[in-house]
Amino acid sequence: MNKMSVKDLKDLKGKKVLVRCDFNVPMKDGVITDENRILGALPTIKYLLEKGARVTLCSHMGKPHSIFSDEVKLNKKDLKKVEDGETTAEAIIEKAKKDEPKKLTLAPVAKRLSELLDGKVKFAKDVIGPDATAKRDALKDGEAVLLENLRFHWEEEKKDEKFCKALAHDAEIYVNDAFGTAHRSHASTAAIVEYGIIKTAVCGFLIEKELEVMADTLENPKRPFVAILGGAKVSDKLNVISNLLEKCDTLIIGGGMAYTFLKAKGCEVGKSLLDEEKIGYCKEMIEKAESAGKELLLPVDTVVTDRFPDPIDAEIDTETVACDKIPADKMGMDIGPETCKLYASRIAKAKSVIWNGPMGVFENPTLAKGTIAVAKALADVYGKCTTIIGGGDSAAAVQQLGFADKMTHISTGGGASLELFEGKILPGIACLNDKK
Ligand code: AMP
Repeated sequence: MNKMSVKDLKDLKGKKVLVRCDFNVPMKDGVITDENRILGALPTIKYLLEKGARVTLCSHMGKPHSIFSDEVKLNKKDLKKVEDGETTAEAIIEKAKKDEPKKLTLAPVAKRLSELLDGKVKFAKDVIGPDATAKRDALKDGEAVLLENLRFHWEEEKKDEKFCKALAHDAEIYVNDAFGTAHRSHASTAAIVEYGIIKTAVCGFLIEKELEVMADTLENPKRPFVAILGGAKVSDKLNVISNLLEKCDTLIIGGGMAYTFLKAKGCEVGKSLLDEEKIGYCKEMIEKAESAGKELLLPVDTVVTDRFPDPIDAEIDTETVACDKIPADKMGMDIGPETCKLYASRIAKAKSVIWNGPMGVFENPTLAKGTIAVAKALADVYGKCTTIIGGGDSAAAVQQLGFADKMTHISTGGGASLELFEGKILPGIACLNDKK
């Protein structure tokens, strides 16, 4: 990686450092239910504090209605409710102003950070207001303050320049360690540097590790290199499919997106998820693989049901059929046992694998077998192959199954790692200083 990291900074004592973290942790009734993102940010924060820096931490949490701003914006879901006459814009704003300061505050994160860092982290009740200013100005060497949720201001997502200046305050150094939002171009993730407000901009240890493993594997993979893609729709992953096809030796397709590929090959897919408009694209990808001498593997058998389970984890009757024999009234919900064997055999021979997206409706235990089989096949090659899990559902599946410590790398950013797989340069990384 050619970007500077915190390790490249000299003499941090007394330096004012703004660190963008990803503390968007799941919460229930004000209690943090998964603190992995907080733990992931600790190495960078500890390093800065030990070196005597004066650290301001910032992050977003959820999707609030920018309640600290004069102008409250409604999202698409809200607008639809208003259009449908379910409620009014005023009622939505009123409710957001009442609920969100409590629901989406970063105060519990600050409390937990303070516990983990010997009381060295305070909390500011605002982002650019009087409390933040006073607490930032009062920081001593080796102390930190966490600002309130950045997205309480609409200016964060709109890259407002005045907001960037206020957020920078008197910081001399910017550290981005929020891999989960590195694909977003917002005030705190990129604009604060792009506008030239803070000139020294480096990445933290978390981003450094994510890039080291993922970018290196994409640029220079040990071969055979197998890419596994699953999840719901082909249309969500068009660029990922074509970019990975160029880089890998074998592309394995599972999940809902497999049925559009099967249709492109001439199979009838019954009531399975189908991206009608993308059948042509799938044909193109199949031809592209053939002409480049790449292997594109599709399921050979599939687990079908007569309906989508409701609720999603409800008991459901299944049947396993060959992929060219899917009955017209059934839908494919998971890869079948023969496909599991086929995919595991390719994983067993691989020297590097990246995986994004479940092989079926894994939220239902009966339909999770394909996803479990892939996770297990990856765990089985531990130590012999570089295995990278691209965040999101596949990361959750690997963690739930207890295979987390049998993977080379589990990314903390589903969206960000997908964009890396697309071959994109992430704005939160592009803006950082190049290594000298
Ligand atoms: P994505 O966000 O694109 O990775 O998609 C994840 C979602 O795809 C999960 O919620 C799965 O339940 C869903 N999914 C996987 N396989 C299928 C399938 N065969 N039919 C419908 N949905 C699926």
